[in-house]
Amino acid sequence: MSAQILDGKAIAADLRKTIQQEVAAITSDGQRPPGLAVILVGDDPASQVYVRNKQKACEEAGFLSELIRLDPDTRESDLLALIDKLNQREEIDGILVQLPLPGQIDEETVIERILPTKDVDGFHPYNIGRLALRMPLLRPCTPKGIMTMLARTGMELAGKDAVIIGQSNIVGRPMALELLMARCTITVCHSRTRNLSDKIRAADIVVAAVGRPGFVQGDWIQPGATVIDVGINRQENGKLCGDVDFASASEIAGWITPVPGGVGPMTIATLLENTLQAAKLHAEGG
Ligand code: NAD
Repeated sequence: MSAQILDGKAIAADLRKTIQQEVAAITSDGQRPPGLAVILVGDDPASQVYVRNKQKACEEAGFLSELIRLDPDTRESDLLALIDKLNQREEIDGILVQLPLPGQIDEETVIERILPTKDVDGFHPYNIGRLALRMPLLRPCTPKGIMTMLARTGMELAGKDAVIIGQSNIVGRPMALELLMARCTITVCHSRTRNLSDKIRAADIVVAAVGRPGFVQGDWIQPGATVIDVGINRQENGKLCGDVDFASASEIAGWITPVPGGVGPMTIATLLENTLQAAKLHAEGG
């Protein structure tokens, strides 16, 4: 293997420690800790795991954390009424509604109901709009966490050619906006993209967010490129793997993120970072 590992687990642990120390300083000063409310509708097993991990991270960081579980048949109007209450509560800085939601609830309506300054997932159109205009406030956690990882490589991003595979609202699109803000030249690929491997071969930075195990092959990668694997795929043997064929890609890339232990831990650490940021905004009267 020639690539250096971009160790998301270690970078996330550093970030969480810094946040924990900041929270300890805030509370020893007599101020309240940052507060995060997580809403889980239904009993999707993967969502339960994500929510548990987020709660655990909040508690370790010294946050106030509140988990609200709702029945799978919850009506949209009841969820919106709950969000209205959380929007009003002074000790709650962040509101996270775990996605996906059951079919009777419209995700966009729910996301838009969260106050933009409490939208710690960064999915509200207001926050996405601010990111698009290069004046970000709360930024989507996965792409922001990837920017933190890229900063750790020490590489100059301005002028780099970046290819993002995937155009979802939560990963691909905001990732493109982040890298554009860092003055990369961006190509966003998706299921209708032609000659995908040629586009990837021209990239200094590849971000794979497809949701297909081992989709990106090593011989599609430019020697020395930085490869960020967002995919989380459960294999038949129960183990997790990414969207990049790690064995072949790590022979060619300059930097590569593993799965597990890459982007995943950064997403959770960045959620804490966003909640702390929201708490500071609220303390300043924002
Ligand atoms: P999504 O299903 O919403 O989007 C997948 C994208 O891949 C789509 O834009 C689609 O056009 C594109 N695509 C599909 N087939 C393609 C092909 N043949 N060629 C090129 N593009 C193709 O998925 P998502 O929510 O963006 O998530 C992507 C992956 O990232 C999933 O595995 C998900 O579990 C994972 N994920 C990880 C984290 C994390 O914290 N690590 C966070 C969010 C999502």
